[in-house]
Amino acid sequence: MSAEIIELVATGQAATRADLARLLGWAPSTVSLRVGQLVEAGVLLEGELAPSRGGRPGRALRVRDDGECVAVADVGGHHARTALLDLSGDLVDVVEIEVDVAQGPVETLARIREQWAVMARGRSIAGVGLALPGPVDHHRRSIVQASRMPGWNDVPVGDLLEQEAGVPAVVENDANAIALGEHYARAEHDFDSVTIKAGTAIGSGLVVGGHVYHGWSAGAGNITHTRVDAADATPCSCGNRGCLETVASGAGIVRLLQARGSDVTTTAEVVDLANDGDPEVTTLVRAAGGYLGAVLCTIVNFVNPGAVYLGGALSAVEPFIAAVRSRVYDGSHPIATGRLTIEAAVNGADAGVVGVGRLAVAEAHRSRAGRS
Ligand SMILES: [Zn+2]
Repeated sequence: MSAEIIELVATGQAATRADLARLLGWAPSTVSLRVGQLVEAGVLLEGELAPSRGGRPGRALRVRDDGECVAVADVGGHHARTALLDLSGDLVDVVEIEVDVAQGPVETLARIREQWAVMARGRSIAGVGLALPGPVDHHRRSIVQASRMPGWNDVPVGDLLEQEAGVPAVVENDANAIALGEHYARAEHDFDSVTIKAGTAIGSGLVVGGHVYHGWSAGAGNITHTRVDAADATPCSCGNRGCLETVASGAGIVRLLQARGSDVTTTAEVVDLANDGDPEVTTLVRAAGGYLGAVLCTIVNFVNPGAVYLGGALSAVEPFIAAVRSRVYDGSHPIATGRLTIEAAVNGADAGVVGVGRLAVAEAHRSRAGRS
């Protein structure tokens, strides 16, 4: 119970006891009792009278901050975005480094920890976190069935990291981390949200009740390998055929252009050509948005989220966003779209570190509350 209070205060969602009672749905007396214990333990500090959101003024609460931080990394195939965040979840520093995940977890983690030490410059690290490009088993904190991470499958990365760093560690799938970062980037986030990253590949995640929804076997929130008619029998990286990613991703569009004799090789070129108004490329990008939108209709009808956020390189192309939007509004029930927002992601390249950083901060606070 203490951890929930600390997280809400640390992330600025609650400033007073009244805010906490409203957000947690607890009796004011229960909140006061718990807050009193945390103040006594030195975990929370009390300040001046502060206006409560919709209530009487109360004493402003804040989490004691000893200049500690959490260190996280959003790991890709050939690079990792490393970052430090303060214990409120705000970014302090971000540095992109080269790594090679094909060298396995031990080498990769050593390189990342070396970078964290450089960035921390003596500052105390209270928790660490990794966003990884494969399905994560949250019970074992390991990667399962990753196609592009040789040597990582079933290695308990969370345990490994925790032993080496000596602080609590969290491990999350990268698309889920992005979804969480995007969800909490807005001031209002009481609703559920779906986040899509449409870049060279397609990733997606679902946030329900403020938490990433993982599903029964770590597979929830994934639309990448949904079979679509338009993809016909095109082979996919997953070993199956006809997946959404083969026609709606940057790599899929590059492949379609090359089949027509184009010498385009990267998603960045596709984005530039579309933004320059190249008619052939724009048609393909618009079609990609339509295929993605068609799959999203089922998600929107079924989940009834408050928002769909579109990130990744392709979301910098207006016709792509427009195509997704029109397909979703056309193909979903008005009860699901009446109050739905579909908009471009705001976190950019930092979305993953912000998301996993939030998890690491919460875990650090939880561990601290457990010790007090
Ligand atoms: Zn596939």
